[in-house]
Amino acid sequence: VQPQELKMENSAVTVAVRVRPFSTREKNEKSRQVIFMNNQETVVQHPDTKQNYTFTFDFSFCSINESDASFASQQMVYEKLARPLLERAFEGFNTCLFAYGQTGSGKSYTMMGFGEEAGVIPRFCEELFSRLSRSETKEISCHLEMSYFEVYNEKIHDLLVAKDEQTQKKMPLRVREHPVYGPYVADLSTNVVTSYADIQTWLALGNKQRATAATGMNDKSSRSHSVFTLVMTQTKTEFVEEEEHDHCITSRINLVDLAGSERCTSAQTSGDRLREGASINKSLLTLGKVISSLSEQAQSRKKVFTPYRESVLTWLLKESLGGNSKTAMIATLSPAASNMEETLSTLRYAHQAR
Ligand code: ADP
Repeated sequence: VQPQELKMENSAVTVAVRVRPFSTREKNEKSRQVIFMNNQETVVQHPDTKQNYTFTFDFSFCSINESDASFASQQMVYEKLARPLLERAFEGFNTCLFAYGQTGSGKSYTMMGFGEEAGVIPRFCEELFSRLSRSETKEISCHLEMSYFEVYNEKIHDLLVAKDEQTQKKMPLRVREHPVYGPYVADLSTNVVTSYADIQTWLALGNKQRATAATGMNDKSSRSHSVFTLVMTQTKTEFVEEEEHDHCITSRINLVDLAGSERCTSAQTSGDRLREGASINKSLLTLGKVISSLSEQAQSRKKVFTPYRESVLTWLLKESLGGNSKTAMIATLSPAASNMEETLSTLRYAHQAR
């Protein structure tokens, strides 16, 4: 790929929003619907004043009513948002997909899903292996390594290594910087995977280990960012004048389920919770700044300062965000009037990322 083409490819961050169906609680509270979608447009209508707030995104996915013709299924979200990243990865680009939103708005459902309602991560991995099984030939071979970690309170924990049985404590891992390859997590486990079944086994372990704690908002919600990474190395063997030449392309794929975006003031917050809230806000804020500065850079074609170093998450993803990479974000929303303030703040965040 020519450098010029790489630059063009990186010209924008793809941003999508997705509204989920009403939860049982929202139905019981008879909360009104405030989100309406029309093609790329997302409109929030204030339930009392009827004032409209309109936002435009690359995709506005509506999953409120299954009988609607425009209903956005897991498959549709995968096809529109994630499959293009898979294609870029095969071409040698690094890719990142983030799910951003208030706790309970559908981040995990979108990224991981469950059973037949599988989300982006399992669909992505399944298709990756099915493409490999069709295309692997003697001339092209592919090596895949998977890791899965979480960032909690600016500390990194490997999700694929069981907790230390004796102390029941997980030692945080350190971020180091390689002179050529940039920041990385020292001692993070990387697991060679040769089939989708391998990935499923590791994912089951990782998901079980994700740190969860109760807050006033949602018992199962997670206050950590989880980062699922695949490093794909394609080796092409070419014969030039009967001599064998190996040519390697490495791409990093990062699929990230971010911590709940609700401001720490809206949950019960004191002591540890408050510290958690502050560090979650810091990394989400930094991510927003990084993504918008990348968009600005791509549009103005001028170098803009990108504050990667201000949070662990952005520092670690540095090599996958700038330069030779493709980034997408999906912001997840509740349709209910009771969540309107959070919904508007999510939409503003997603909008400034473009
Ligand atoms: P988060 O990860 O943002 O905290 P979840 O993904 O756990 O939120 O979603 C909260 C609840 O809503 C779950 O029960 C989930 O199954 C349901 N849900 C979320 N998005 C959708 C959707 N698009 N369609 C159907 N159910 C959904």
